[in-house]
Amino acid sequence: MKTSILAGLAVAVTLAGASRAAQAVGPLPAPPAARSFRVGTLTLVALRDARFVARNDGKTFGIGVDPAQVALVLRRAGAPADEIYLDVGGLLVKEPGRLILIDTGLGPAFRGALAASLAQAGVTPAEITDVLITHTHADHVGGLVTATGSLAFPHATIRLSGAEWGWMRAHGDAALVRLIAPQVRTFVPGESVAPGVTAVGLTGHTPGHAGYEIVSGSDRLLDIGDTAHSAIISLARPAWTIEFDQDAAAGRASRIATLTRLARSHERVYAPHFPFPGVGRIEADGEGFAWKPDPN
Ligand SMILES: [Zn+2]
Repeated sequence: MKTSILAGLAVAVTLAGASRAAQAVGPLPAPPAARSFRVGTLTLVALRDARFVARNDGKTFGIGVDPAQVALVLRRAGAPADEIYLDVGGLLVKEPGRLILIDTGLGPAFRGALAASLAQAGVTPAEITDVLITHTHADHVGGLVTATGSLAFPHATIRLSGAEWGWMRAHGDAALVRLIAPQVRTFVPGESVAPGVTAVGLTGHTPGHAGYEIVSGSDRLLDIGDTAHSAIISLARPAWTIEFDQDAAAGRASRIATLTRLARSHERVYAPHFPFPGVGRIEADGEGFAWKPDPN
């Protein structure tokens, strides 16, 4: 059965009061962290929000695949074979006169650390001018709201694709939709959403999923959102079905096409679910791909 990441989060909430062992599935708190790097003349900061753990039981990664096959891929990468770990993060782009945040993490409902990571970067929520959303799953829009239910980024314009906003209004959290609606400005993928930042249509994971390409001089970086989740499994076996893709076939097609393009262009990538800080490059590797994290 395919369900959204929201279902996984609901499981974690249900388990919140249960034993420590039971909490080993779903989002887990992680310490705040902020890591700066450059794209051309711009400073970007990777911000940590949380961790996410899934069991290797064929229900989340490699649906329809023998978990022993999944274990083999994990072991080859030197990772534990019984659980799959993802990080959750967001990306800050510092431009002259603008502070842009791409995705907002899980938010206070799940003890997300992104707000504390932003503070480590020396930025207050009120200073954020633009929030760019890749898609409207809870680990990307949960941080739009504070613990008291108000707007987390009160002076920011919230940008997302028209298709994703349409999906959120029809199927998303109604209270969150009401709260953010006055600040939302939709775009059509391909549009420039800030100086040097272009929205890139990466439909597949969700109906209006978008990445963001940041260009400064001859340097560039693509925030791929949830085109790929695990830096190990989603790359080594991009055709395998993942629970989080709302449309498995569309998610698979987008993942393979995007990874193929990135392995050819060799441009830098930010992936919010890859190991923090999630900055590196995609390389072709056998029948799939491999993650080469930036040394910096
Ligand atoms: Zn996600």
